[in-house]
Amino acid sequence: MKMSNLYAPTLKEDPAEAELASHRLMLRAGMIRKQAAGLYSYLPLAWRSLRKIEDIVRDEMDAAGGQELLMPIMVDAQVWRESGRYNVYGPELMRISDRHEREFVLGPTHEETVTDLIKNELKSYKQLPVNLYQIQDKFRDEMRPRFGLMRGREFIMKDGYSFNATQESLQETYDDMKQAYANICERCGLKALPVVADSGQIGGDTSVEFMALADAGEAALVYCDACGYAADDEAASTQVAVTEGPGDGTLQKVHTPGLTTIKEVAEFFEFPENGTRKALALIDVEGNPVVAIVPGDHELNDCKAEHLFGEGFHLMTDEELEQYGLCKGFIGPVNLPEGIRLVCDVTLRDSKQWACGANEVDYHFTGACPGRDFEPDAWEDLITVVAGDPCPHCGAPLAGARGIEVSQVFQLGPKYSEAMGATFADENGEEKPFLMGCYGVGVSRTLAASVEQHHDENGIIWPVSIAPYEVSIMPLDPTIPECAEVCDRLTAELCEAGIEVIVDDRDIRPGVKFADNDLMGFPYQIVLGKRGLKNGTVELKDRATGEREDVAIDEVASKVADLVISQRR
Ligand code: ATP
Ligand code: MG
Repeated sequence: MKMSNLYAPTLKEDPAEAELASHRLMLRAGMIRKQAAGLYSYLPLAWRSLRKIEDIVRDEMDAAGGQELLMPIMVDAQVWRESGRYNVYGPELMRISDRHEREFVLGPTHEETVTDLIKNELKSYKQLPVNLYQIQDKFRDEMRPRFGLMRGREFIMKDGYSFNATQESLQETYDDMKQAYANICERCGLKALPVVADSGQIGGDTSVEFMALADAGEAALVYCDACGYAADDEAASTQVAVTEGPGDGTLQKVHTPGLTTIKEVAEFFEFPENGTRKALALIDVEGNPVVAIVPGDHELNDCKAEHLFGEGFHLMTDEELEQYGLCKGFIGPVNLPEGIRLVCDVTLRDSKQWACGANEVDYHFTGACPGRDFEPDAWEDLITVVAGDPCPHCGAPLAGARGIEVSQVFQLGPKYSEAMGATFADENGEEKPFLMGCYGVGVSRTLAASVEQHHDENGIIWPVSIAPYEVSIMPLDPTIPECAEVCDRLTAELCEAGIEVIVDDRDIRPGVKFADNDLMGFPYQIVLGKRGLKNGTVELKDRATGEREDVAIDEVASKVADLVISQRR
């Protein structure tokens, strides 16, 4: 390929609308262009990389027993009504009507479509399991499409669905998919963690998200280097870490005038914040008052609180605090007014000496002891885990990171098959709903995540496996016959070795060439300069390390070919 023919309109300046490195660099390198909010054209360089990601995905899916097919993007709304999702999916679902005013949706995901497809045709347990996948554009009318390919409205997804006869079989397919997904991340050069998104009743996980580690990620994670545990900070739990407050083991009431925040109370007692107790007064979804107690240095986790107190619980208003006899800033577990449920964070269970509000204006207790001074109605997991908390499995301190969700595997069970009446005959001839799994890879998001992980101030640094071209050749003065000759020869040798080469044959200043090639991120760059050619050498640059070395013209092609081939995955 010649750069003079390549359609890659580069930008010198950083585009104002791009906050993330991946968005900014892909615009600047002439890889993507916005059509409208969340709608992008993939220009030739991006498309080459995307096809490589797709091929890696295909390869892994096929190896794990998947079969590729292609379903329509536009789907009859009727099947979404059958599953019950038409009314609950929300405004992300693109709803359209045809000329006969029949309703359709643009598929944001295809559980309904695929279940409708196999229904009445996949009939017997003998045909199972079946694992079908497609690579296709998806539509989600995202509230805030942003960050370029990271959160688009139209984006490329690999979506796969398995139909299994038994839970054991579903588990097997799910485990295979999980492994395939780990392989996909690895082969695309992504550093990613499998994060448990949801732990099922059957024990073990029923959903895992693969999170590419990146500061720009929307998800906050904690993970354990010692044992491999990783979780979304919303879902993470921690081990009991006993934190004691000040005192001599007896209950003491202390005058703390005007000290209503954890910080003030901790400073007053000259004690770390985790020795204090934070009390949150709330009204659960049934309207009952609850006081939740957490360690002073942790927050009540919204997601966990919703599970315990119902979706729609709320913190008490000033009027409600007054109505239930609670003193704002001085709430605690001891002497709690009658009728208020007391729920304490489970990490505090073994702690015998709490500094906490005294349920009296301007007073706190120290040395409050559960079982002696008060009796919680329940011990529950209430807090948002933070970096430094002990790992729930092995106790080592958890590290914090941010992540981009690039893919997810999910055990759906009979949710869709039951709703849509998709059944098979089991060994005893009994009709049963299929057990399903669904498995999604964000193909275009994976491209963006890769740029987030692989770039520097000069541009993108593609891993060889998904680079649009593996090697670029830069004849600095293509008008010199000898330079052109060496360029043609190296191109031919590299092509012969099966290497993807782009030649920057443009008649422009060397500085601009260097900058563009770095911006576009080709992993290896061969520079043909006047002086080197005289000595029979060219300069070989490794984009990732920035290292340059002079290599003999006769040797450079085989050297680069070896380097590239060893890094293909
Ligand atoms: P998110 O929480 O980021 O909105 P999701 O969990 O709703 O994603 P899934 O339904 O699990 O997404 O879709 C499978 C994969 O598709 C995701 O793991 C992600 O990589 C990708 N994806 C989802 N939404 C978008 C989007 N708006 N733009 C680009 N990729 C997306
Ligand atoms: Mg997801």
